[in-house]
Formats: sequence, C-alpha cells, structure tokens
Amino acid sequence: MPVRKELIKLKCDLLVNGLRLNELRKELITSQNWEESRAAGFLPAELKLHEEIFVQIRENSEANFRLKIQDSSLILEDKNAECVTTAEFVSLPPFAKNYTNDLTAFEKVVVYNGLCNLNFTWNYYCDYFRTGSECRFCNLTPAQDFYPDENISNARKTSSQVADVIETAKKYHTDPRLILTRGTPADKQGLGGTVQILEELSKRFPYNTQRERTKLLMTVSPTKNIEEVKLLFDLGLHSVSFNFEVFDKGYWKAIVPGKDRNIGRGLWEESLTVAVKHFGPGRVFSAMIAGLEPRKTLIEGVHWCCDRGIIPIIVPFSPETGSQFEGFRSPTYKWMFETHLEAAAIITEKLPFIATEEYWKHDAPVCAECFTGGFLYDIIKENSGLCDFHSGNILSSSVLAESGNVNINYNKH
Ligand code: SF4
Repeated sequence: MPVRKELIKLKCDLLVNGLRLNELRKELITSQNWEESRAAGFLPAELKLHEEIFVQIRENSEANFRLKIQDSSLILEDKNAECVTTAEFVSLPPFAKNYTNDLTAFEKVVVYNGLCNLNFTWNYYCDYFRTGSECRFCNLTPAQDFYPDENISNARKTSSQVADVIETAKKYHTDPRLILTRGTPADKQGLGGTVQILEELSKRFPYNTQRERTKLLMTVSPTKNIEEVKLLFDLGLHSVSFNFEVFDKGYWKAIVPGKDRNIGRGLWEESLTVAVKHFGPGRVFSAMIAGLEPRKTLIEGVHWCCDRGIIPIIVPFSPETGSQFEGFRSPTYKWMFETHLEAAAIITEKLPFIATEEYWKHDAPVCAECFTGGFLYDIIKENSGLCDFHSGNILSSSVLAESGNVNINYNKH
C-alpha cells in the first residue's frame, strides 16, 4: 500500500480531478444484483483511504482513478487498471437516524464529514443571490434546485434542533467537532438566529475554561458593528471564520461583490484582527479558495493571516453546479499540490502551535483528518510528524468496528 504522503497526494488528485464511478455502478448491477435505477442514483459522499485519509467524492467521468469492487473489497484503480489502494465508504454514525425533540430527523439538520466533523448549514438562503451579488463560486441558494433529493431547504434550523444533535453526538464522541455556516440574511445585518444557537449551547453545555467550550466553528460574515465580534465570543462561541475566499483586492471585488459592498474589505480585515484579540490565536480562521487567484496573491493572504494569528483554511477550487463558475476547471494537480505545500510550510513556521498534538487535541474546532474537502491540515500534520489521527476524538470503539466493513448499501449525503 502507498505510504501516507502518497495517499495525501492521491487525495489532492481526487479533489482536483474527481473519481470515476460509472464502472462501479455497472458492477453493482452485475455482481451485487442492484436494480439499475438504484445503481444509477448511487453517489457516495466520502471515501476512507488507508492511514486515516478521508476524501470527498467528486464524480468525473474523465478522472484519473476509478472505484472498483475486487474480492468483495473496494479498490481504486488508475488508468492502467492497476490497483493503487483499497478504500472504504464512510458509514454514517449510529445516531444518524435519530430525531430531535421536536421530531425533526437529524438528517435534515446535520451532515457528517469523516468520523468526527458535524456540519450544520443554518439556512440555505443568501440574499446576495437575490441582488445578483453572490460570490461567484457559490451555489448555496440554487443548490436546492439542482439537488432535489438532498435535505436542502430555506427553513432555518432552530437552536434546540442544533443542540439536540450535539447532545446526542457527545454521547458517542469524546469531543465532537462542529461547523456551522449560514447565508446572508435579507437585512444583511446582525447575527440573526446564530445568537440563539450560542445561548442554547452555553445553557446546555456550560463551560468553566476556554478548553471546555463546545468546539463549534462558525463560518459567518462579520456584521457592520465591530462590537459584535466580541459578542460572539462572550456568548460562548469557540472559534470563528470570516472567509476572505480570495485575498487579492481586485479579485475580492470581482468574486465576492456582496461582501465587498455590504461589509467592505477594511471592516472584514478589522473583524478578523479584533477576533484574534478575543478568541486568541488558533481560534480565528479565514478560508481562501486555491484556484481562483494567482498563487502569489493567495500566498500573500496566507502570510497576512499567519502574521495576525489567523489560521488560513485553504480549500481547492471545485466548480459547483449552479454557481457562476459552473463548468470551469480546477487548476492542475501540480499547481494545487505545490501551492498547498508552500502554504503549509508558512503556516507551520509562523503558527508553530499548529504542529503540536496538543493543539489538535485540545483547541482545534475541526478534526484535521475529517476535513474531507481539503488536504492542507493533512500535510501540516504529516510534515510535523503528528500521527495521533483524529486527536483522540473518535467514535466509540463499537462504532469504529461497525464502520470497518465495506458498506455499499447506503448513500451518505
Ligand atoms: S456570502 Fe457568498 S459564499 Fe456566503 S452564502 Fe452568500 S454567496 Fe455564498
């Protein structure tokens, strides 16, 4: 089997170039007796490779690798039909079919990434789509038209629904990692229902020390009132991410026009720096999409963040259906991997705490291995010699045993 460094490269290729699934669908019909219609709709969300490398599946009929069943195991084959590694689908956690106290299915409230990260999208409405000023790569609001079978609706999750899921997850994980995002509300101002969520979490899961805060990362827009950065911290939020998306100021105006017009670049930067004063280094983030601007300006953004104690979240560009960049291509694998390597080296040098097991175990709001849409933190941990995968934050051993089997009977969305 390939060594872990090679598997991280494979993850990069799968995120940039996708994965062929059509041959697998044919095998499901011929060797597993699946109905044609069932096989046609089979679209697993994530794969687990060896050595705790987890990756999102992005289907592409021209990808370099394909999934295949061999001797009842899943394998990845290259274009020469050579097996490069075995793989597994990632099982949903055992509580995935539970209901909240108001009888809402968990699957309408949360999406799972890998084994440890729980993702909440508070709502799928972003007013920038109404005004034509949406971020050019984003498909948040149109997604419901393109993916009618997904649990996507404009309904906002209530604070109780979010807290019910977290309360259940805490029975299975030692310390679940949580991400909550949302679209921009119609008034383009204020923190809206996110305040109620924080109040509910602080009530249900009281904390005495900073490390006892529920590990929730909110990826939201700052508001026009800079005081509200402190309010987020005072309400009990663990970590915050105000995403640049692109760093170069010209690209920023062109690619995120709503953010530029309504909040403005100056206030965006100020909100990030003020956030570090309250949350502290290691708990403030900003995502930037690799592939939307030149490497030079992206790397400038990495330096800008690190010099202020902000951790960049670099994600490879993936052209989304329904976004204005639909049909575009990601940069080459080589560009993507080298850019990530450079960013990882800068972050590790300027924010040395990120190269410690202690940070990932006690302070990080996300599990590095379960960040399935990117590979920056895989590189940082690997190059720092950190091998406490999931940082002690894993499902109970009975759950892990369950997920160890090849399971081709479900769709994880
Ligand atoms: S602010 Fe931009 S990235 Fe966020 S939901 Fe709206 S359009 Fe999408």
